[in-house]
Amino acid sequence: MIRSCDCHLHSRHSPDSRETMAAHCARAAALGLDALCFTEHYDFDPQSLGHYHADDFFAELGRLRAEYAGRLTLLAGLEFSEPHNHPREFEAMAALPYDFLLGSIHYYLGGLFVGEMAARGMDPQLCYDAYWDQVRQMVAFGGFDAVGHLDFPKRYFRKLLYDPAALDDIFALMRKNRILLEVNSSSLRQGRDEPMPGEALLRQYISHGFTEITLGSDAHTAGDLYRDVPAARALAASLGLVPVCLIERKRYALASEHR
Ligand SMILES: [Zn+2]
Ligand SMILES: [Zn+2]
Repeated sequence: MIRSCDCHLHSRHSPDSRETMAAHCARAAALGLDALCFTEHYDFDPQSLGHYHADDFFAELGRLRAEYAGRLTLLAGLEFSEPHNHPREFEAMAALPYDFLLGSIHYYLGGLFVGEMAARGMDPQLCYDAYWDQVRQMVAFGGFDAVGHLDFPKRYFRKLLYDPAALDDIFALMRKNRILLEVNSSSLRQGRDEPMPGEALLRQYISHGFTEITLGSDAHTAGDLYRDVPAARALAASLGLVPVCLIERKRYALASEHR
């Protein structure tokens, strides 16, 4: 039975993390977590392209699964950027024995990273409009289990430009293609007052008939593992949402954390 799982984290298999998988596992064991799902980046920007090697990832995960057998469930995930723009590469990855596939929008408007758009002082409305359009195209494409950090631009623009009509389209497509939302706690440790997404978007998600979410810290260091996930979980629970983890692409509700 899994009570606690961090379903979004990165190790040195991602271009923007230097942490070892072993350090994450040791930290998870120290925190008393039941499960971890590594979701390394698969990105197409010039700095990241070619960094991720699935065979190295699965080999290291296999060694750690043996070491932690009976103590910690270690799941294989992938955070794939803009799958709709890279269908052949996505299909090749989706054929591998992953437990969980996250689809995320990081790069658009000519391949810029969202944080770079904010740093350049680009018009937030323009960046948000293009962002929601990318998310819509991604969930229409489908083939993955959950959308990572749905309102990601708010991490960089420091405000949410909410577009309920665009989100109605997005949630309807997610229902059709059996895609869940992730509640990502990384915005909380970066000083924002709510996870990604926050309450308003989660309420709209629920209005489309959804009852489940996944939970993740998006940790790039072992020190950030599971950070603020309990707060994200509490918000989801207060709205009646059930946290799940995915094993072999199937959903399992997390048991209550109270032993
Ligand atoms: Zn991401
Ligand atoms: Zn991530």
